[in-house]
Formats: sequence, C-alpha cells, structure tokens
Amino acid sequence: MNAQLKGKVAIVTGGASGIGRATALLFAEEGARVVVADVDGPGAERTAARINDARPGAAVAVRADVSDPGDCRRVVDTATGTFGGLHVLFNNAGIIRRTTALDLDVEEWDRVMAVNVRSVFLMCKYAVPAMTEGGSIVNTGSGWGLKGGGNALSYCASKAAVVNMTRALAIDHARAGIRVNSVNPGDTDTPMLRDEARQLGEDWTAFATDAADRPMGRAGTPEEIARAVLFLAGDASSYVTGSALVVDGGGLA
Ligand code: NAD
Repeated sequence: MNAQLKGKVAIVTGGASGIGRATALLFAEEGARVVVADVDGPGAERTAARINDARPGAAVAVRADVSDPGDCRRVVDTATGTFGGLHVLFNNAGIIRRTTALDLDVEEWDRVMAVNVRSVFLMCKYAVPAMTEGGSIVNTGSGWGLKGGGNALSYCASKAAVVNMTRALAIDHARAGIRVNSVNPGDTDTPMLRDEARQLGEDWTAFATDAADRPMGRAGTPEEIARAVLFLAGDASSYVTGSALVVDGGGLA
C-alpha cells in the first residue's frame, strides 16, 4: 500500500461502476477509508467488499440517490459516524441522455440536472461542515462541460454547470482549508460509454479509436481518470483549487 491518503476518510459517489469504482479502489490502496455511495446498492456493496477483502473495515457501502437531500445527508453521516470524520469528497455520480432539444422531454432534462448538478450542491452542503480539518472536493465534469457536444443538450449544460460550480465552491470555502477542483474526462471506457456506443448503433472498436476525437487513438481507462482524481484529492495538489483538470488523451486540444 502507498500512503497518499493515509488517515483520510473519503466519499465516492457513483462508486459502483466505471470511474467511481476505480477511484474508490485507488483511494483505498492509498490508505483512505472509503464510503462507497451509489443508487445501485448491490454494485456499491461489491466495490466495498473488494476493498474490505484487502483491508478489512476500510470501506462501507451506502445505497443513495445523490439527487435526494436526505440520501446525501445520510452518506455524509455515514462517513462521520463510521469513520469519525471526512476529508475527501468525490462527486462523480452522473447520467447522460443522448438527445437534442427536439427529442428531450422536460422530465428528462430535470433528471439530468438533478443527478449531475443538484447532487454537487447537496453533497457539498452537507460535506463542507463535516470537513472540520479542511479537505478536498473533486467534481466530475466532462470535456463536454468545457466545449460543446452534439446530441447531448442536457448533459452539456449540466457538466458546464459542474465546472463553474467548482470555481464558485473553491472561492467560498478556501479559507476553511477546503480545495475544490473538477476532473474533466474525455471518452473513458466505462459501462456508460459502451452503452452510448450501443445506443448510437456504433461498433465499439471503431467508436473507441475515432481519430478526430482521440489523438492517442484510444479511449481512456477508468484507472487513468482515478489517478488524476487522486492527485487532486491528496496533498500533492495543496495549492490547486478552482481548477478544471482535463484528462482526455488530447481530445480537447
Ligand atoms: P458509469 O455509468 O460506469 O458509472 C456511473 C455510476 O453513477 C453508476 O454506478 C450509477 O449507478 C451511478 N449513478 C447514476 N445515477 C445515480 C444517482 N442518482 N445517485 C447515485 N448514483 C448514481 O459511468 P462513468 O463513465 O464511470 O461516469 C462517471 C462520471 O464520469 C459521470 O459523472 C460521467 O458523466 C462522467 N464522465 C464520463 C465519461 C466517459 O466517457 N465515461 C466522460 C466524461 C465524463
């Protein structure tokens, strides 16, 4: 085990799958005790079990919908109640709808905003007071939060909101010793992206190697995003706050 997060307590939302799962596992390898939160309860349990197999008692799973205030409060209470504090919050749970304004109904717009945006507000609302020794918050934005993207109106709006909320949060809580940054992945090989390729009727191999969007000729891995999140979560980034870190193999460039 390395020790970049030794003695730290971390919350990871969307920890059942993809980027969240890889990050929860990496945080634990680096010494953190981890609350794995996800609306997919059994999936969160699986991630926590994998951590506990290696380090008994280092993880706990919570089934939570991050768009719900009561659930968000319960996730934070689990961290403080089970592990005695909170130092790192990774607001990562998210959903995408691949539609234009013409196909998108109001309920779907509201759902994307609730899961991707309201969740960041709610989790911070409850987590910041619990970070009594200071802390680090990392929010998952997206390359599409920094530029436009086709056929994903609500998602692009939601991720742009996450990027700018990150800056506002960073300013508001800097004097409390809390840093807030966003990590902005490009296409990353997770169940979300494979599902998108399926929905668009695209062959995965062709989709994942699309030259225009991917100078490196491949999608990223969840572990590559997790390592960037670890940098932002730990003391190696002690003077970094309000930033938008792009991890996309050169896609935005
Ligand atoms: P994923 O689908 O593998 O994982 C997302 C997780 O979030 C799932 O476990 C899901 O159950 C959980 N989740 C969804 N709604 C929830 C809710 N209401 N409450 C709690 N948990 C909920 O996807 P991923 O690719 O790992 O995505 C993680 C984050 O990365 C998302 O915010 C996504 O928008 C962002 N992102 C992904 C990519 C990519 O290419 N995969 C690119 C840029 C940004």
